Amino acid sequence: CGIVGMVGTEFKIDELVEDLQKLEYRGYDSAGVAFYDNGKISVEKSLGRIKNLKSKIPDKSTSVGIAHTRWATHGAPNDKNAHPHTDCSGKIAIVHNGIIENYAELKEELIKKGHKFKSDTDTEVIAHLIEELFRGDIYKAVLETVKQLKGAYAIVVMHSDFNDTLVAARKGSPLVLGKGTDKVILASDVTPILRYTKDVVFLEDGDVVFLRNGEYKITDINGNILLRKVHHVDWDE
Ligand code: GLU
Repeated sequence: CGIVGMVGTEFKIDELVEDLQKLEYRGYDSAGVAFYDNGKISVEKSLGRIKNLKSKIPDKSTSVGIAHTRWATHGAPNDKNAHPHTDCSGKIAIVHNGIIENYAELKEELIKKGHKFKSDTDTEVIAHLIEELFRGDIYKAVLETVKQLKGAYAIVVMHSDFNDTLVAARKGSPLVLGKGTDKVILASDVTPILRYTKDVVFLEDGDVVFLRNGEYKITDINGNILLRKVHHVDWDE
């Protein structure tokens, strides 16, 4: 029910979890975080309070991470169904808010292709579909993936080959982008963003965002560049 993603100069993983706490009011049953860690993706998840997750977080810094609070729609609230979800290789991690209506068909096809699923969520199909369509360019793999998704989603995706990159997309679930001086932040609403910047972009349905090296590009699902207004938010944190 809440998403935060951050990429840029190194930050403490704790910070990302504090940002996630600002979305606590949206309600949730579990929480999790994935971060880039020495060429790999590390994932920590916990049922219940974000406080439980906090106690599992290593005292480390990273250049890219994603965090999530879940409000279960498909699959019981438990550790294995908590986000982030990963593909078979463990190189792709994803957080998702919303519902993938055609997940059962997609899952069946992916299982036929040899994918092994670890959770009962609709979300996990997205990670495996990206893996299936990945040809070296994570942004392109996400474009091809969202073309096949039916339903509502805000997703943020990371890949362990890219320690400076996040890809996000939305349709029917909110996602806001903030460009700080040395970081780009994505979140379900503006509250976690305000401590980094007051300049935000409210992403629209059908937007796909490629964040790299502190810069961002917004396109439609066919890769056509979109210009989105930057709003200056005049509130305090
Ligand atoms: N449908 C997904 C799940 O059940 C996402 C739920 C959410 O928006 O938190 O895991």
